Amino acid sequence: MKGLDRLDEVRAWRAQAATLRVGFVPTMGALHDGHRSLLQAARAHNEVVVVSVFVNPTQFGPGEDLAVYPRDREGDERMLTEEGVDVGWFGTIDDLYPRGFATRVEVPTLATRLCGRQRPGHFAGVSLIVLKLLNVVRPQRAYFGLKDYQQYCVVRQLVADLNLDLEIVPCPTQRESDGLAMSSRNRRLSNEGRRVAPILYAGLAAAKRGFCDGERRASALLMTALRPILDEPRVRLEYLDLVDPRTLVPIEGTVDQGGAVLAVAAHVDGVRLIDNVLMAEDDATTGVR
Ligand code: AMP
Repeated sequence: MKGLDRLDEVRAWRAQAATLRVGFVPTMGALHDGHRSLLQAARAHNEVVVVSVFVNPTQFGPGEDLAVYPRDREGDERMLTEEGVDVGWFGTIDDLYPRGFATRVEVPTLATRLCGRQRPGHFAGVSLIVLKLLNVVRPQRAYFGLKDYQQYCVVRQLVADLNLDLEIVPCPTQRESDGLAMSSRNRRLSNEGRRVAPILYAGLAAAKRGFCDGERRASALLMTALRPILDEPRVRLEYLDLVDPRTLVPIEGTVDQGGAVLAVAAHVDGVRLIDNVLMAEDDATTGVR
């Protein structure tokens, strides 16, 4: 694994690898087995794999957890090496947001749904950094986790609207054995927070079981997910929404052939966690683990 910090080094590497097909995994580091699954998918399908590690300040709002976001360069380098990654780009603020930086990138409608209500500038920050990273790395494929479902939708829209010539590959959410979605932020949970955090997935999974058993009423699916979550006093719910998988608009009435995404955001002992499950006709029989 070649560890590079400077943007001009990444550009130089890409220039000499110009004929190679690149799979790219953008991350904010503190890598865990959720990230590992993306690295493995990229490794399996591309000649070379590039991973960026950069905690992007423009996607954090005032009062959010930028200052305490977990950082672990040593652990990250270890995982990149273990997974046979070719280049790890540890981006710097000076390169990515030099003095005088002024441009904004927005995907307005999708960005205002779900997490966008409480995090107004978040997806503009994500869109900006993803576009910048793609412009430097110029991959043929980029890998995104469905754990951040709204982010995946925003990036897909951005890539289509701006005619970027690459494939966006969605990757399934990786979970701990008790169902908790893996996340760098899980490192910040207290023991008690870690104990109760799986309740989010328990609620989503109960609703998905209902869907698999034929329930299609949005209100019933939402109530099923809400019950266990509201019973846990350490969980402060931000939202629980059942939305159209493409537009992210809340579903009223019943889920149709297009399916749904049930998405949750909650603060568990002060740590903000998100999760979601997909409800699709064609996997109605698969159920959840
Ligand atoms: P992050 O470092 O949190 O910005 O995540 C980098 C990439 O890893 C994003 O595409 C995430 O969606 C993905 N990712 C994070 N956690 C998981 C997970 N538990 N399962 C699958 N992908 C994940």
